[in-house]
Amino acid sequence: MGLRIHFVADPHGWCCMGLIVFVWLYNFVLIPKIVLFPHYEEGHIPGILIIIFYGIAIFCLVALVRASITDPGRLPENPKIPHGEREFWELCNKCNLMRPKRSHHCSRCGHCVRRMDHHCPWINNCVGEDNHWLFLQLCFYTELLTCYALMFSFCHYYYFLPLKKHNLDLFVVRHELAIMRLAAFMGITMFVGITGLFYTQLIGIITDAIKKVKGQLTEWEKILCI
Ligand SMILES: [Zn+2]
Ligand SMILES: [Zn+2]
Repeated sequence: MGLRIHFVADPHGWCCMGLIVFVWLYNFVLIPKIVLFPHYEEGHIPGILIIIFYGIAIFCLVALVRASITDPGRLPENPKIPHGEREFWELCNKCNLMRPKRSHHCSRCGHCVRRMDHHCPWINNCVGEDNHWLFLQLCFYTELLTCYALMFSFCHYYYFLPLKKHNLDLFVVRHELAIMRLAAFMGITMFVGITGLFYTQLIGIITDAIKKVKGQLTEWEKILCI
């Protein structure tokens, strides 16, 4: 499936996305430095757990970039309306273009989007027909990464054996508690936010599927003249 590149020029969206990248970078650098590598060196955890952490983190960033730069389903200026579907199309009173039903006009992007779900400032893009699955992928990897990082932060303080080799001159070690508290705060905020989003998305998908099945049933009832 060929995905078209799309870039939204919106300073508000850039700030939101910058904040997300900062949270990612903060945890990407400090969780391995404070928790993973020291415990690996002292034989408390196997190396594969570090590889898994980096793997999920990279997947998460790639999903963020892809959801952000993929065209969500912008309508062309002269759309080809399929024969027999004309009655289901309408004129957008903001951009004066024809659009199929369930399309919405996004004032931040300045155009109509097919099956628009919402405009997400955190990815600085609309979530529509063509990038909805990328957005769900991003939610999934973020949920996975926050759970993984929070689990290690918890184990670091309450489960793993205390570290023997602690170089107290290192800035990160001296400020470890404050750094980890901030990381945990970011993790919990992300986790709660993404869980709420996931829940609404899932409800939307299920409702859509029920509607589709119901529509199909009515079609069959008509054909069978029930
Ligand atoms: Zn429009
Ligand atoms: Zn938008």
